[in-house]
Formats: sequence, C-alpha cells, structure tokens
Amino acid sequence: MKTIRRKPNFKFLAIIAFLGLFLQSCSEDDDPILKAPTISNFEYGEGSAHSTEQVAYKGSDIHLEAEINAEASVKSITLSIHAHDLTIADGEVAWDFEQVFTDSKYLVINPTFHEHIDVPANIPAGEYHIELTVTDELGNSTEVEGHIHILDSITLSDISIDTTVVRGEDFHVEFLINAVNKIHNISVDVHAHGIVPGPGEVIWDFEQTFTEGYREQTEVEFHEHIDVPITAPAGEYHIIFTVEDEKGNTKAYETHIDVTVS
Ligand SMILES: [Zn+2]
Ligand SMILES: [Zn+2]
Ligand SMILES: [Zn+2]
Ligand SMILES: [Zn+2]
Repeated sequence: MKTIRRKPNFKFLAIIAFLGLFLQSCSEDDDPILKAPTISNFEYGEGSAHSTEQVAYKGSDIHLEAEINAEASVKSITLSIHAHDLTIADGEVAWDFEQVFTDSKYLVINPTFHEHIDVPANIPAGEYHIELTVTDELGNSTEVEGHIHILDSITLSDISIDTTVVRGEDFHVEFLINAVNKIHNISVDVHAHGIVPGPGEVIWDFEQTFTEGYREQTEVEFHEHIDVPITAPAGEYHIIFTVEDEKGNTKAYETHIDVTVS
C-alpha cells in the first residue's frame, strides 16, 4: 500500500516540477517584455500661453510637455534643440541647446515632462529641430522629435519713410510693428556724419522716444512726422528707429534721408 501511495506522489512532484519550470520560463520571458518607454502627446509652443502651435519667439520661452510611460522607471530625459542649415548673421550666435533632466519628479514610471526653455534673443530666426529622449532604468530609450519655428519677437513691416525733406519742414515715417511681448517704446535717432555747419547753421542731432499710443500694444502702426529745423545743414542724415518690447528685446531699422535747402 505504501509503495502504491508513493507512485502518485512522484507524479505530483513531477507536475509541481513541470509547473515550476513552466512558471519560471514565463517569468524569464517577462523581462524582455518590459517595453521601452513610450512618449505620447508631445507638444510645444510659445511659453507664456502654454501654446501647442509649434512657434516660439526669440528672447521668450518655449513650453514643452509630453506624457511618458516607462515600465522600468525613467532614469533620464534629454532635450535637444538645434538648427540645421540656418545662416548666422552679424551679432547672432548658433543655438545648440541640450539638457539632461534627472529631477526626482521624472524618475518614476509615468511622469509628465513639462519644462519651459528660454530662447536666446541673439540667435537666427527659423526652423529648429527638437529631440526628446527618454531612457529607463534598464537602459532602454525612446525618442520623439519635431520642429519649431523661432520668430523675431518684434517685426517691422510696410515701412514707408520719406527719402528727402526740405529743412524747415517735416518728414513722414510710417511702419507696422508686431511685438508679441508688447511695445515698451520706439526711439528715433537722426544725425549726420561729417556735415560741417555753414554760417547761421546748427548741427542737427535729433533723438526722441515715443510711447503715447504705442506702449502695451502688440500690433500697431507707427506714424509720426518729424520736424527738421530750418537751421539744419543740408546733406545726408542717418536715421535709426529702435523698437523695444516689455522684455527689453529691441529691433532696429536704419535708413537715410536727404535734407535739402528750399
Ligand atoms: Zn508650459
Ligand atoms: Zn537635428
Ligand atoms: Zn505721415
Ligand atoms: Zn549714424
């Protein structure tokens, strides 16, 4: 009887052993099944509005947001913003941004990435490439990418300025200003280079700052008439218009005007 009883026991043990192998092989399959992180709803745009319109402005900031799911917790999030083929003008520098985020709020299974990145004021406007890479504790990584258009925070258009004026009269200046950060003021500087005043003439060096009707506007037509003194020596004058926004960004426009004698 005892030997008969042992037989089923051996079978039972064999089944247990088989199940054990089966369960172990299942759990061995589970490791590779831990998927690389997923990144969804990647959005970005103008910072102050948390915009998703994929446009940002120099001297302002970019809002970026993404939902991350990492079965093995996130180890790091790397953000890269750079341009391909943008021409760098005088006074501009290339912008090649990279930052690795390891803040504790991100080192979890399903963090929401949300950052605001300052855009330098002195970089070329144009299209920039954004890459967001999430790496998990197991070393798996996933990348999403996109493009953002970086624009000047102040633009001047439809410029109409007289090119000649008789001294003692005034000249007309008109242009359209778009300033996403609101206009602070517009300054005008008129001066000559190397004009020697004759008898009875006085060097004309004009500077004026305009705010009334312009301050706090984001889109406005600048229209002024500037008086030229009757005593100004005739000749070519250099004019510089400078628009400053509420964040201290400036945009200048230069031209020349001929002052003549009637
Ligand atoms: Zn934001
Ligand atoms: Zn790139
Ligand atoms: Zn006018
Ligand atoms: Zn000058």
